[in-house]
Amino acid sequence: MQAIIDDIAEQMMAVEDKGGVAGYIPQLAKVNPNQFAMSVALPTGEIFNAGCVDTHFSIQSISKVFTLTIALGKLGENIWHRVGREPSGDPFNSIVQLEHELGKPRNPFINAGAIAVVDAIMQGHQPKEVLAEILQFIRYVADDESIAIDEKVARSEQETGSRNASLAHFMASFGHFENPVDEVLGTYFHHCSIAMTTKQLARAGLFLANDGRYPSNNYKVISSQRAKRINAMMLMCGHYDGSGEFAFRVGLPGKSGVGGGILAIAPGKASIAVWSPGLDTIGNSKLGTMALELLASKTGWSVFGKSEGA
Ligand code: GLU
Repeated sequence: MQAIIDDIAEQMMAVEDKGGVAGYIPQLAKVNPNQFAMSVALPTGEIFNAGCVDTHFSIQSISKVFTLTIALGKLGENIWHRVGREPSGDPFNSIVQLEHELGKPRNPFINAGAIAVVDAIMQGHQPKEVLAEILQFIRYVADDESIAIDEKVARSEQETGSRNASLAHFMASFGHFENPVDEVLGTYFHHCSIAMTTKQLARAGLFLANDGRYPSNNYKVISSQRAKRINAMMLMCGHYDGSGEFAFRVGLPGKSGVGGGILAIAPGKASIAVWSPGLDTIGNSKLGTMALELLASKTGWSVFGKSEGA
């Protein structure tokens, strides 16, 4: 495994066009695109690392996997009254479907859906309490108390978040919101701004690769059925309108973020975190996707079968 990912990292650093950093969040626009990191965590506790695996990056939409997990824990199946579970086929911040579908977002991983999930988990609590709960959950599954929010990124998002504010107010106009819109938005911007390394993120995803159990002590984080369903959502909706392409090329449940990270789950085998800040035109990490495509093909981990021949 170490030889495989060393080789992938070397190939990635040689790629000339590394994509463009997310320009619409000023703090993310400053990140040097010439960086690559990959960590592969196995349920045995082993972790393999290549590249700048101790550098913190903004996990952005990858945090939506953890907020969905929390929402399922709090609301159970009722969360599906607030958000659907179908791919959107639209950009991550699109507003068009919302009007046709009366303010119910297609899935929990597009921005509108993630904002609705935050409203659902707030249940009248203050943003600080909700953020503490989200952080506590991520620190617990990553087994790392040092994970924190990058306040500069959160502020940067808040200052430039007109599109997300529009989505939230539009949903609220259908009478769906239970908490003040500005508090929901503030909570959303802050959980998107959690900073992690690929080492931490790969560990944090292990419960999804391990039937919902925390590998080191086999403690049940969520039921195996719930883990299976979160993985299904990641496969179908984790890369916005690039989800079909990601399934085609990589074949693993995955969730990307505009910070350039991707968390991919090979059920029963591994949790993989990859980071490279340059994005493709849809907003998914360019090198991250390429690296995962190579890894899936070399390991045969695609959920759809092996990759021999063309
Ligand atoms: N915080 C970002 C936004 O709301 C998340 C987008 C993403 O990572 O896809 O625009």
